[in-house]
Amino acid sequence: MFGEAEELAERMGVAIRVGTPPHGWWGCWDPDTRTITLHRALARLQGRSTLWHELGHAHYNHVGHTGRGERQAKIWAARHLITVETFIQAGQIDGRRQAMAAQLEVLERDVEAFTWSLTPAERVMVALSVDTGYPVDNVNAPGILCPGLFR
Ligand SMILES: [Zn+2]
Repeated sequence: MFGEAEELAERMGVAIRVGTPPHGWWGCWDPDTRTITLHRALARLQGRSTLWHELGHAHYNHVGHTGRGERQAKIWAARHLITVETFIQAGQIDGRRQAMAAQLEVLERDVEAFTWSLTPAERVMVALSVDTGYPVDNVNAPGILCPGLFR
């Protein structure tokens, strides 16, 4: 159902099952059994995003739940779901996060995490490609990066 993510899981020796993760989570990673559990009621879009997120935890061998680990997994997922090219294409249509998520067929959290992961060079590329209504000099100033994409 999730093609590339499932193939990667198999290569990583990670089992995927459908069930009911604890605490109302959409998914969880169990490092002891190398198993990802996806909530049985997720829509396809939610399931794909969550599977990539949990694979991020597996990739980094995360044990337990930390803020730093969550951020790593979110970025890892976003980098597998979105490319700079597709991000720019979506931003050129509508730079609002919700609209970009719909265009990219991901969740808003994936768009947000992708923005965290942009390198300085990618930030410039995005700023030059997406019309934000700001001069490029301003867009490249610290903290003003491409406001259209960060609403
Ligand atoms: Zn997580």
